[in-house]
Amino acid sequence: MLDTLRTELPGSFAFSQSSLQDYFDCPRRFQLRYIENLAWPAVESEPVLENERRQQEGQLFHRMVQQHLVGLPDQSLTRLANSPELARWWENYLGYDFNINDYAQSTELILSAPVDTHRLLAKYDLVAIVPGRKAIIFDWKTYHKRPREDWMAARMQTRVYRALLVQAGAYLNNGIPIQPEQVEMIYWYADYPSEPSRFQYNAAQYKRDWDALTGIIREISNQRLFPLTDDIKKCAYCPYRSYCNRGGKAGTLDETEAETDTPGSEFNLNFEQITEIEF
Ligand code: SF4
Repeated sequence: MLDTLRTELPGSFAFSQSSLQDYFDCPRRFQLRYIENLAWPAVESEPVLENERRQQEGQLFHRMVQQHLVGLPDQSLTRLANSPELARWWENYLGYDFNINDYAQSTELILSAPVDTHRLLAKYDLVAIVPGRKAIIFDWKTYHKRPREDWMAARMQTRVYRALLVQAGAYLNNGIPIQPEQVEMIYWYADYPSEPSRFQYNAAQYKRDWDALTGIIREISNQRLFPLTDDIKKCAYCPYRSYCNRGGKAGTLDETEAETDTPGSEFNLNFEQITEIEF
């Protein structure tokens, strides 16, 4: 079956941090997921129910925060925190001062920019901005373990979100492109509220990121071979193990968070939702 895999992307493909991260981690995973559109034949991690429960709680937590940020009162949302984990995350969220009262806030913001015939897009949990001065990207994480700073810094999400805000965020900034030095990205960990990861930005990093992102997109567009990763550890958390003969047993939940993110709403994006930014 693997001999007959398709290798060509559609003429117009919406790249996201998730698909680029997949390509970065394993080209074959990108091919199976985004070119072949194969259903996930195996669980990502064990125990299965615990993993599913945690993913659902993570998604509900994101919805609760979003609704709180658009003005729903604490009390009505607190009733939704119906598990010990959700209650703890919610309490941590309500107790933390994000210090953005003076900022214009956009939740669930979608930005997109063209790259050749394709698009790069991102859905932000929250962008808080004081036009002409500062733009902060917030992303909520419900990881069981707090990741290392260098690991988060290297994630495609960190690179895509900051670069795309500079590239496509002018309309949030009175029509003037946001300067890289005005951008900061904050990962706020619901289980580690006082230890967020903060990543500033600068022009050199922006140039590096944008050149790299457009380069990877062009590489994937022209790619005709999508090899299996040499890093066997990645396979333990990959749902395509059976296609690749890379073992039948899933990694454990504790370990998997370091390798996979909760499948987010990013997968459900459609083009009607996307803010069109043309250059
Ligand atoms: S099982 Fe391993 S080689 Fe196969 S797609 Fe997943 S990460 Fe890649």
